[in-house]
Amino acid sequence: MSETTETIFSKIIRREIPAEIVYEDNLALAFKDVHPQAPVHILVIPKQPIAKLSDAESNDHALMGHLLLTAKRVADQAGLTKGYRLVINTGVDGGQTVDHLHLHILGGRSLTWPPG
Ligand code: 5GP
Repeated sequence: MSETTETIFSKIIRREIPAEIVYEDNLALAFKDVHPQAPVHILVIPKQPIAKLSDAESNDHALMGHLLLTAKRVADQAGLTKGYRLVINTGVDGGQTVDHLHLHILGGRSLTWPPG
């Protein structure tokens, strides 16, 4: 079993705090980041509270694929025809601040590389 956590994202899933939700299905939720770093900045999360990518296990294989395809779908829905970036910050050195696995979709401007 993957590690489970209670975070602000759990509260968003349960609608206990507000968020601009742009997509939902039985496995995943996507909502706008409260501090956007690009014109489009959306977070895609599993409803199952896996704390971080490094906690995902082989039995999470289908869910991980679903999250990636959900990100593609949400990016298409957001009209990011010129491209976008997916980011998964993982752990302290990865800059992760919320311990519930999330994919950042960043787009709507030309993004630079490398990140800081
Ligand atoms: P991390 O740094 O963990 O990769 O990303 C966490 C992201 O969650 C940050 O970009 C931050 O702005 C966003 N975030 C934190 N709290 C909230 C919240 O309450 N609502 C929303 N919509 N985004 C949040």
